[in-house]
Amino acid sequence: MAKTKYHYNSHTLKYEKVKTSSKIWALRAVGFLTSSFACAILLLYIGFTFIDSPREKQLQREADQMALQYHIMQERMKQVDAALENMQHRDDNIYRVIFEADPISSDVRKAGFGGVNRYKNLEHFSNSDLMIETAKKLDYISKALYVQSKSYDDLTEMAKSKAEMMASIPAIQPVDSRKARAGISGFGIRIHPVYKIRKMHAGIDFTAPAGTPIYATGNGKVEAAGIDGGYGRRVVVNHGYSYKTLYGHMSRFAVKTGQQVKRGDLIGYVGNTGTSTGPHLHYEVHKNGRPINPINFIYNDLTPTEYAAILEAASQENQSFD
Ligand SMILES: [Zn+2]
Repeated sequence: MAKTKYHYNSHTLKYEKVKTSSKIWALRAVGFLTSSFACAILLLYIGFTFIDSPREKQLQREADQMALQYHIMQERMKQVDAALENMQHRDDNIYRVIFEADPISSDVRKAGFGGVNRYKNLEHFSNSDLMIETAKKLDYISKALYVQSKSYDDLTEMAKSKAEMMASIPAIQPVDSRKARAGISGFGIRIHPVYKIRKMHAGIDFTAPAGTPIYATGNGKVEAAGIDGGYGRRVVVNHGYSYKTLYGHMSRFAVKTGQQVKRGDLIGYVGNTGTSTGPHLHYEVHKNGRPINPINFIYNDLTPTEYAAILEAASQENQSFD
């Protein structure tokens, strides 16, 4: 309620009521409303800026918790990454070395994801950096795991063929060492027993009584079983992997051309056929078509002492038996 106001009229010398026009009333009302509104805006601004609502506080707590969880996740990914690196190291430096395979290049291992920005949907958030970094790390680990798993597939295949290769490459003595160790003539220049000249001896001679069994020294296929000049009755076994073996001066065959043999299978018997001065087995190992020293391929069924004795005997530059 507005108070009634008076003013002194100097002409009439009386106090008179002041009459407020409706226009002034209207102006006052507008002024009051405007200042009230401004005050309200100011209060709201202060409230929203400096004082969080319970809902906001709740959201902020959740955001903080999420950021913390991201950091924990990153720590755990670091541990996974370290384990993965250990696997990669063993793969390149142990497994692949065993199988004589090249290590996986770091270009392949470290390759990222090219092309479009995969992390676009993570941009423009307050925690964008953290989220993008975490997503990148996870992508990197997934990729590295994929490469590693492919590598283990390769290794499995290599191990399978390696087992086959190990079974095929000659690795035992072609005759029982207890019967054949007595007289042995090795690979290299030897005096030929018939021609009495120094001549390259392309194999090892195992002396043994006629009829002593001769065994295939690795898995393979009989490429030839027949008479071949100075070798007399001889068998050639093709082992694959560029290896062949030859067994000469046999008295009898136990296999036919084209037959598959396993390591240790009987293929014939010691004899004295061809150019030979007594019953013995002439044994050759060929790699890529060239004879190599068989002494390096008879280790499997020998003790180190036995092997040393044979090595010693075979290195004597004596007279060969053929
Ligand atoms: Zn010989």
